Amino acid sequence: MLNSAALQRSSWVVGNWKMNGGLSDNEALLSGLLGLLEDHAGGSVAQCAVAVPAPYLFQSMVRLSGHSVGWGSQDVSAETSGAFTGEFSVAMLQDFEAQFSIVGHSERRARHAETDAVVAAKAVALADAGLVPLICVGESIQVRDSGQAVESVCLQVRHVAQALHAKALLSHAVFAYEPIWAIGTGRSAAPEQAQEMHAAIRRTLSEINAQAAAQIRLLYGGSVKAATAAALAAQPDIDGALVGGASLEAKEFFEIACAMSGE
Ligand code: PEP
Repeated sequence: MLNSAALQRSSWVVGNWKMNGGLSDNEALLSGLLGLLEDHAGGSVAQCAVAVPAPYLFQSMVRLSGHSVGWGSQDVSAETSGAFTGEFSVAMLQDFEAQFSIVGHSERRARHAETDAVVAAKAVALADAGLVPLICVGESIQVRDSGQAVESVCLQVRHVAQALHAKALLSHAVFAYEPIWAIGTGRSAAPEQAQEMHAAIRRTLSEINAQAAAQIRLLYGGSVKAATAAALAAQPDIDGALVGGASLEAKEFFEIACAMSGE
């Protein structure tokens, strides 16, 4: 049985394209998705968005403006400008009307040594400018096997949430629980396993700000497919999905968004 706060949280399904795509592939994917959504007009479907590689933000803006699918990036700098070769700022995202950015994806935490402090600074920079920080947290298989998964993930959440709360920006956040062992492996967390973690994340958030905690959307990510999405969405603290591989196929992504609509 969903409580009233859960009913107020509309589902959000975000495709993380990672470093995939190209101008013509993107056009085919986006027009396929928009076509499916148009054919389904009036039917129930979760709010959709795509997190594209930064060079394709302009293409996304041109292709998606005026449609129901949002767009954003997969990372951003916490700095505003200057000698940060290869990076881009929140203001640059705003130039392309991006609505959000992923921060703290486990691939960036691992490959670019991003700490919780760096992730928190990026989240604050985004929220401060009115963009949604989509903050990824998750545990490795070693941490899960050691029985420390909840503690470890809630520590990641607390770090970023406190930084946002200190600036009265916590309610802008969306968190994605992405167990590292489930990303790109075809092995999704079981719905009950994901719910257990989502409930722990919401408890952690409510220790900081109970009102914001009830409103914040918690997405699940890690090998989500159309076939598994409805069971995940049925969990009371799962408010959508962050989808990697399956977001590269328009029909699969659309079917996930339908399954995640909550109806
Ligand atoms: C991701 O990397 O954010 C992700 C969820 O990937 P996949 O769906 O491919 O596991």
